[in-house]
Amino acid sequence: MKIGIMGAMLEEVSQILSNMENVVKHESAERKYHEGSLYGNNSVLVFSRWGKVASATTATTLITKHNVDLILFCGVAGAIASDLNIGDVVIGSQLFQHDLDTRPIFPRYQIPLTDTTYLSPDINLVKKAEQSVGRFLNDVNTIISPQTLSKFSIYKPKVISGPIASGDQFVNGDIIPTEILKNMPDTLCVEMEGAAVAQVCAEHKIPFIIVRTISDKANHSAHIDFKEFIAEVASVYSKKIIENLYEDQVWSD
Ligand code: SAH
Repeated sequence: MKIGIMGAMLEEVSQILSNMENVVKHESAERKYHEGSLYGNNSVLVFSRWGKVASATTATTLITKHNVDLILFCGVAGAIASDLNIGDVVIGSQLFQHDLDTRPIFPRYQIPLTDTTYLSPDINLVKKAEQSVGRFLNDVNTIISPQTLSKFSIYKPKVISGPIASGDQFVNGDIIPTEILKNMPDTLCVEMEGAAVAQVCAEHKIPFIIVRTISDKANHSAHIDFKEFIAEVASVYSKKIIENLYEDQVWSD
């Protein structure tokens, strides 16, 4: 079993890398693939950069060159569901591209020539990941200081699984969320990679899981304090979430 881990924020990837052993670095198409052992499991860790093309090419290389059997994607996202708060975590149960529109040839969001709109990871994998993340969030007060949590208004963060919308846009206003929620009312958050990684994995028949920490509310203040949030909260979340997913061996039957 070889596990591929992808992240779109360098800081998050660096945190996970600090726990890897016997690392060998392979460079390919402007990406650094860190192959080694993470908590005793063969793993390949890579910083994908942002967006659907960057993440799709990275996922493809992980699968075809590094022969990973599973991809875990960890990153941040903007909430569009009103009951989600900064510091909550979303596990993608359905991934779709909110900027994919070939009407009138195919329905909105449908991946051309596939008859498919929503890509879903294995439901058992989603459930297990939800439990592992929940275990971390129950202990979050002992892992991140109360001062830091209150600085970002994080009180009793929760994990929830549901639809995630991906697109090549940083969403920081009402127009895109309103449009997404009109067509897909259960959508929880927006980001820029999940559905692309999901499509590559589905086409290669590789299991995947997309985990997103809510960093903003996809509105006009979406960029405020983003750097601090990544350094003080999201990086710690990613490291601990990956640690728990490994501890629970979520991929095993
Ligand atoms: N707010 C940052 C930019 C982050 S966007 C800044 O001001 O510098 C970069 C990453 O965060 C992407 O990988 C994307 O998947 C995720 N992301 C977080 N919030 C998002 C949002 N509101 N819209 C789209 N992507 C978002």
